[in-house]
Amino acid sequence: MAGADVPLVLDPGTHARGRTVAARLRTFRVGSAMFAVPSVVSAVAIPFLPVGVHREWLAVVATLGIVVGLVLPWLPWQRWHRRVQFVPVLLSLAMFGPGIGYFGHALPYYLSMFTLSFVFVGLSQPPRSSLKLAPVAFLFGATSAIGLAEPMRILVPVFLTVGVGTVVGEVVALQVARLRTARHTVDNLVAGITGLTAADDLTDAANRAATAAAGLVCADIVLVLLPEEGSPGRYRYYGGHGASLAIDEVVVDTAHQPSGVTLAAQHRRPVFIRDATSSPHVSKANVERFAEASILYVPLMGEDGLAGVLTAIWRRHRSEVRGMTLRATMLLAAEAGKQVERLRRTARLAHEAETDALTGLPNRRAFFRELEGLNDDDAVLFLDLDHFKALNDRYGHQEGDDELAAFAATLAALTRGTDCSARYGGEEFGVIVRGDGERGVTLLVDRLREGWAEQGRTTFSAGAAIHRGGAPAGTLAAADRALYAAKDTGRDRLCWAEDCPARGDAVR
Ligand code: GH3
Ligand code: MG
Ligand code: MG
Repeated sequence: MAGADVPLVLDPGTHARGRTVAARLRTFRVGSAMFAVPSVVSAVAIPFLPVGVHREWLAVVATLGIVVGLVLPWLPWQRWHRRVQFVPVLLSLAMFGPGIGYFGHALPYYLSMFTLSFVFVGLSQPPRSSLKLAPVAFLFGATSAIGLAEPMRILVPVFLTVGVGTVVGEVVALQVARLRTARHTVDNLVAGITGLTAADDLTDAANRAATAAAGLVCADIVLVLLPEEGSPGRYRYYGGHGASLAIDEVVVDTAHQPSGVTLAAQHRRPVFIRDATSSPHVSKANVERFAEASILYVPLMGEDGLAGVLTAIWRRHRSEVRGMTLRATMLLAAEAGKQVERLRRTARLAHEAETDALTGLPNRRAFFRELEGLNDDDAVLFLDLDHFKALNDRYGHQEGDDELAAFAATLAALTRGTDCSARYGGEEFGVIVRGDGERGVTLLVDRLREGWAEQGRTTFSAGAAIHRGGAPAGTLAAADRALYAAKDTGRDRLCWAEDCPARGDAVR
C-alpha cells in the first residue's frame, strides 16, 4: 500500500519542474530570505552609501548572503537532524550581527534581519528554541558595540529587537506545533479508520482501534472491551495496545463493578479520570497492574447502540484530553463500534449458514466442509433413527421434532471437541471421528446407545467407514453403504463398510 496516499499525477504538463522549484523554495523560503533579502538590499544600497563606508567589505557580505540564500533551499534538510537548521541562523547572525555598530545608520535594516532569523527558528524548531537563541543573538549583536563611544545606542535597540524577535519566534513555534498536532491527529485518524475497515475479526478490530487510539491520545496502554454475547452488562477484553493480555483476561461486570467502563456505557459519552489512584471508579488492583495515573473511557457507539468501551491509560498524570484529540478519538470509536457490529453480524450470518435451525448442530454444508479435511484413519459415521416415520405418524411432527432435537443434543454432548457431528438431513446424522480409527467409532456408538436408551423413544442404526486415502467422497459413500447394511440386517446396530459388499453385489 506504499504511496497509496499520494495521488497518481497524470499529464503534468510543462509546469512540473517549476512546481518542484517552488516546493523547495516554500520549504526554506524564510531561511533563504534570512540571507537573500538583507544581502540584496545591501547590494542595491552600496552605490548610495556615504563616503567612508567600507563598500568592498559590504559587497563581500552581500554576495555571500545572496549565495547562501540561493543554496539553502537545495540542501537535504529533511535528512538531517532538526538542530542542524540552527547552523544557518548562527551563520546569519555571525554575518550580519557585527555590522550593526559598523553601519550604525542602517540599524533598522539589521534589526529586521534579526527578526527574520527568529521567525525562521520558530518555523523550524520546537517551542522554546527562540528563548534559547535569545542570549546568543544578543551577544552577536553586542559585539558590534565594542569600541564604540556610546555603546548603549546599539545595545538598547539590539536588546529590544532580540526581545521582540523571541516573542515572534515563540508565537510562530507554538502555532507550528499546533498545526503539527492537527496534522498528526488527522493522519492517525485516517490511518486508524482505514485499518479498521480491513479488520477481519473482533480481536483484529480491537487491536487496530487500540493502536490508532494510542497514537491519537498518546496513551501508554489502550484496552478495548466488548460486550459478552448473551450476558448483558458484561464486557470482555478483546484487544489492546501497550499491554500483553490474554483475550478475556479483563472482564467488567457493569451491574456490580463501579468502573469508568460502567459510566461510559451508561452515559454514552467519554469519561476522563484525572487521578486514577484516588478515584472510586477505578479498582486498586487495576491501578497497580497497569500503573494507571489518568484514564479516558470512550464508548464505541455503533448503529444499534453501544458496541464496546475503549480505555486509554496514561502512566503519568494528564490534566485533560480535549478539543480535536477528543473529537478525533470519538470519531475513531464510532467507526470501531460500527466495525464491531459489522463483524458480529457477519459472524452470526456465517454461523447461521452452517447451523441446522432445529437441532443447533452443524448442517450438511458444514459437514461437507469438514469432510474436505479428512485424514487417514479418520472415520465417517452415519446415524439414522429407526422407524422414525412411525413415531411421527403416531405422535405428530412436533413430538418428532423434539425427538430429533433430543437425539442431536445427546450426540453433541457425547462427541469429542475434535470430532464433528452434523445433521446430514431428515433423521440422519453424520459424524467425522478424528484419528482413532475403529476404536473411536465403537466407543462413541456405545456411549450414544447407552445415553440415548435413557431418553429416546427410538433406536438408531449406524454405518461407518475408515478413511484409507483417496477422495473423501469415497469414504462417505462407503459409510452410507454400511448404514444401509445395518438397516437391512435388522436395525439398532453398527455396521462397517469393510464388512458389506459394494452396492449391487449382494444384500439388496
Ligand atoms: P428407517 O428405520 O428405515 O430409517 O425408517 P424411517 O421411518 O426412519 O425412515 P424413512 O426414510 O421412511 O422416514 C424418515 C422420516 O423422517 C420421514 C420424515 O417425515 C421424517 N422427518 C424428516 N425430517 C424431519 C423433521 O425435521 N421433523 C420431523 N418431525 N420429521 C422429520
Ligand atoms: Mg430412519
Ligand atoms: Mg433416513
